[in-house]
Amino acid sequence: MSARILDGKALAETVRAEVRRGVDAFRTRYGRVPGLDVVLVGEDPGSVVYTRNKEKASNEVGMRGKLHVLPVSVSEETLVARLRELNADPAIDGILVQLPLPKGIDAVRVLDLIEPSKDVDGFHPMNAGFLALGRPGALVACTPAGCMRLLSLADAKLEGANAVVVGRSNIVGKPMAQLLLAANATVTVAHSKTRDLPGVCRQADVLVAAVGRAQMVRGDWIKPGAVVIDVGMNRLALPDGKTRLVGDVAFDEAREVAGSITPVPGGVGPMTIAMLLANTLEAATRRQARH
Ligand code: NDP
Repeated sequence: MSARILDGKALAETVRAEVRRGVDAFRTRYGRVPGLDVVLVGEDPGSVVYTRNKEKASNEVGMRGKLHVLPVSVSEETLVARLRELNADPAIDGILVQLPLPKGIDAVRVLDLIEPSKDVDGFHPMNAGFLALGRPGALVACTPAGCMRLLSLADAKLEGANAVVVGRSNIVGKPMAQLLLAANATVTVAHSKTRDLPGVCRQADVLVAAVGRAQMVRGDWIKPGAVVIDVGMNRLALPDGKTRLVGDVAFDEAREVAGSITPVPGGVGPMTIAMLLANTLEAATRRQARH
């Protein structure tokens, strides 16, 4: 039987509509709109597209989105000074620095400098720490937060489920594992040194692949009926010289075995920006409530 396809594009539209309503209510209550400022250093074509999309998406839900483009040659001190200004500006609720930063700029220092209450990417150690400690109030990294919404869409029963997360990056794998743990799943985090990865994956009622290797997870790695969330975004070269976006999961094989599965494109990807908007509204509401 073919798996249910979890439509991330449609779910992202639902989240954006929720945020739009939230922004309207925020404006009525506080007389201003939430503001998201995105900082891009350099002109990497992929990053230019991502950051413009973030600015556009925030304006579309009625927020004030602003993109700051700094030259690739910018000094770390100038970037730091700009971030300090954004931290201090009361009209700004969310700050995001697009990664990767050019060589020569200390990304850890830069990200640690973002005011945690405005850290809508959820990468600041304080937000990551709150999530790990299970404390309320963390701004949660957007991609894993989007995966959790997709798991709700799948009606996945997480309590007591065996969840396997393949990948342990700070921006996807680790926060994903924390969220699943908080939902009372029994969580295994696999990585490049894991022994018998196919065998580990076969135990999973919920399998999250966040690796960055095209179609690595094969159909026979998947437990029949499992929920599969494919975070991977990989460009696969085609014989005609073109490329195709594929995930970390071999979709055509996996859909014959899984109970539900996210496609690539159209699964996790659209959810990431939607959750960024949700985080910005959340950050704005919390900051306003503190005043
Ligand atoms: P990273 O490169 O930071 O981390 C990849 C992880 O995968 C590492 O933990 C690594 O293990 C593990 N890994 C690598 N090779 C293997 C292997 N052969 N077997 C098992 N584990 C392996 O990537 P990210 O977490 O940033 O991103 C992962 C994927 O998700 C990428 O395709 C990225 O493009 C995509 N992505 C998609 C987003 C979206 O919005 N849809 C957002 C963010 C990322 P180790 O730690 O041992 O090196």
